[in-house]
Amino acid sequence: MPRPVGRSFFANPGPTNIPDPVLRAIHRPSQDFMDEGFIRLVLDCRARLLPILGSTTAEIFFMTGSGHGAWEASLVNLFSPGDRILMLESGYFSDSWTEMARRFGLEVETVPADRRRGVDPGAVTAALGADAAHRIKAVCAVHNETSTGVAIPLAEIRGAIDAAGHPALLLADTISSLASLPFRMDEWRVDLVVGGSQKGLMLPTGLAFCAASPKALAAHREASLPRFYMDWSIMLTRRHRSFVGTIPTQMFHGLAEALSLIEAEGLDALYARHARLGAAVRAAVRAWAANAGPSLYCADPARQSDSVTAVLMPDGHDAEALRCHALARYNVSLGGGLGALSGRVFRIGHLGDLNEPMILGTLAAVELSLRDLGVPHGRGGVAAAMEVLA
Ligand code: PLP
Repeated sequence: MPRPVGRSFFANPGPTNIPDPVLRAIHRPSQDFMDEGFIRLVLDCRARLLPILGSTTAEIFFMTGSGHGAWEASLVNLFSPGDRILMLESGYFSDSWTEMARRFGLEVETVPADRRRGVDPGAVTAALGADAAHRIKAVCAVHNETSTGVAIPLAEIRGAIDAAGHPALLLADTISSLASLPFRMDEWRVDLVVGGSQKGLMLPTGLAFCAASPKALAAHREASLPRFYMDWSIMLTRRHRSFVGTIPTQMFHGLAEALSLIEAEGLDALYARHARLGAAVRAAVRAWAANAGPSLYCADPARQSDSVTAVLMPDGHDAEALRCHALARYNVSLGGGLGALSGRVFRIGHLGDLNEPMILGTLAAVELSLRDLGVPHGRGGVAAAMEVLA
């Protein structure tokens, strides 16, 4: 294979682009993770992550792992065998979290949803209202379903729980919304946040965390699922209040740098940038949708995600073929369809370290690929995106 010429454009919804200053910060020798200076670095990163969560009080437990590890930590630390949880159906990732919970011996009740629109808060209130005995211990929501590009308004989910007068915990998976969509843990009274390093935080994969409210910590003290590596009670005995094993020290140097980049941009500006880039991508897809072309998978304009867009291919055209062509011909990496959407959608990630030319370059490569492969589409997607950005 000849070396691809020019820059690779990485438009995956995770992992995402790692900024050069973060790469440089990570590039350093090993150090003793019990050194006083390193412990201070971990504690400093915890404190600086809280504003991104919109929390002043949460206890953050870092661990080595990907998002699945943080999911597992959320389950084993909060629940006992036979506990019932309410999963809000959103797509591939709510399915996987459900499967994991079942394997840990939890009873999972699902609030079904149209995956192109996401859950109806009224259905959440109804499910909780039917649970007069308060057997349901928690409501689990994927804030931003990465497989569909549908973002769930968590304020409305909190409202739905309150409307039922139900004491369940609220768990939120922020893997593809953290540091890209606004998040207000205290205001929405989210009890447990599941997060990872490889998307909005612009780091390599491998650092995951849970952020727990005081109510979640109280539930943890009652929970009896077996755990060790992910046990928050063990973590709380450590000086860094995280990690049961060896700490990936380089990741914290990268995290401190990533937090500096986020702080320098400012959270409001960062969210506005994601909203702008997301709107540009959607404008391009709407233009392509003419002539029975590819269209937005998310059918509710109010819930279209500003961090990832899933694009539904017209019948008879393979999304995977388009994804492979864009990579092989233009060196542009897109996300593929997951689970039942495999071959039906491709996904454009627009979160993390991205600017307008990167998005326009990606959209141009997709539009060229549609032409190259003879996929019907409306012309002018890139021009429509530029209109949004101008
Ligand atoms: N939850 C969401 C919303 C995700 O997008 C992902 C991965 O993309 C996960 C959970 C699982 O995380 P990981 O693949 O890092 O284990």
